[in-house]
Amino acid sequence: MLRVALSHDVDRIRKSHQYITRIGRSLAKLNIKGVFNQLRDIGRSDQYWGFDEVIKIESDFGVKSTFFLLNESMRLDIWKPSSWKLSLGRYKINEKRITNMIKWLDSNGWEVGVHGSYHSYNNSKLLAHEKGVLEDIVGHEIIGIRQHYINLDDSTWQMQSEVGFKYDSTWGLGDGIGFRENRIKPFTPFNNSFYVIPFAVMDSCFASTLDRWEQLNNLIELSIKNESILVINWHTNNFSELDFPHYKDNYIRIIETCINRSAKFYTLEDYYKEISAMNS
Ligand SMILES: [Zn+2]
Repeated sequence: MLRVALSHDVDRIRKSHQYITRIGRSLAKLNIKGVFNQLRDIGRSDQYWGFDEVIKIESDFGVKSTFFLLNESMRLDIWKPSSWKLSLGRYKINEKRITNMIKWLDSNGWEVGVHGSYHSYNNSKLLAHEKGVLEDIVGHEIIGIRQHYINLDDSTWQMQSEVGFKYDSTWGLGDGIGFRENRIKPFTPFNNSFYVIPFAVMDSCFASTLDRWEQLNNLIELSIKNESILVINWHTNNFSELDFPHYKDNYIRIIETCINRSAKFYTLEDYYKEISAMNS
């Protein structure tokens, strides 16, 4: 049987400095239409919100997913251009609009988890803090995490586990689709109840893969054969059709492809519960 978990990293919720960077990029390529499209788009910062789009698509198919919420605390360092992208345009997890959405998702069958901030992968204080903030919003325990920029080092899983996470879904490729180091099945790095659930398909990597549909079919076959789960990661802001053409269509077509293979859809939390009960 094909098992699928759809998931969403919520990196940003509104478009801001991207107007400038995208206009700059279009100008550099002498793409006047691109500049015009961006200018016409100013004032529609909401197009990075994404939640309503995702909820509508998934509701139409009768499936639910997991949203990983970022609580980035990195300050802007004007002298460190590499930090600009990470710090600029970040959202506050406590703003009313986002807490309302988190509560709505949580009480309607979607899962919310922590999208560990950029420096949290080796900082247990930050991990515990970000878990606590999200738990205060929903009023119950949060068990899942995926690290921003898929940052991982030798200490990450130990720290996540110590602060009370039950699973991590950071293990995956950032430069292609497929299974990182060929690890297809969920695994327990400490032989206890803490699971790593690998992801196999991330939106930007999928978009840049030429034979993407053929490769997707291979990944489906591998997941079935290994009695594993195919984890998909589609960022909420990438549902903006102007800035990320075809991402939304691809997401829909992936769900359709999986449904045609009689897939069973899980939130990662539900899947975690199933495998941990089986192995306990
Ligand atoms: Zn991220």
